[in-house]
Amino acid sequence: MTPQAEAILELFRSTGAYLEGHFLLTSGLHSGRYLQCALVLQHPAEAEKLGRLLAGELARLAGGPVGVVAAPALGGLIIGHEAARALGARFIFTERDPATRKMVLRRGFAVAPGERAVVVEDVVTTGGSTADVVEALRAAGAAVLAAGSIIDRSGGHAEVGVPRSALVTLEVESYRPEECPLCRRGLPAVKPGSRPV
Ligand code: ZN
Repeated sequence: MTPQAEAILELFRSTGAYLEGHFLLTSGLHSGRYLQCALVLQHPAEAEKLGRLLAGELARLAGGPVGVVAAPALGGLIIGHEAARALGARFIFTERDPATRKMVLRRGFAVAPGERAVVVEDVVTTGGSTADVVEALRAAGAAVLAAGSIIDRSGGHAEVGVPRSALVTLEVESYRPEECPLCRRGLPAVKPGSRPV
């Protein structure tokens, strides 16, 4: 891990956004690590700094100016906005249509034909949300050049359909309860957010 990535992970630790222990995830799976980017991003100065770092990565991958940054709501809103600020670009967001579950642009958001776009998310797990935003932008006519996230918890494996970068890459394993090595060691599993950290 680079010194920059180490420093970001330390920022996550110090704000309670990165926990190590034994966690019961909303998916029903168990994990030894838990990430909650909102706890870092509640600090605007940190959000601005992370946005600037991510903007540097995105500018490099895009190889030229970026007209618009798009992010999936809710997780991508703050970091996407800060990356757009640093890139001097517009910021728009996508939402899931409640009926179809498709990622869509609402609220009158639009892109110009061929507009140079990048996609930003807080955490990439499978890459599904970012890939859905890439698709939504392409369908709207944008040229999607790159994607980025603060954290990649897929160990670098997630594919999103465009070149991708993350400020910190982790391999965060999750387990079915019956196969969980932490359960086997007798550690009690806690639901993140259910207690003060
Ligand atoms: Zn467990």
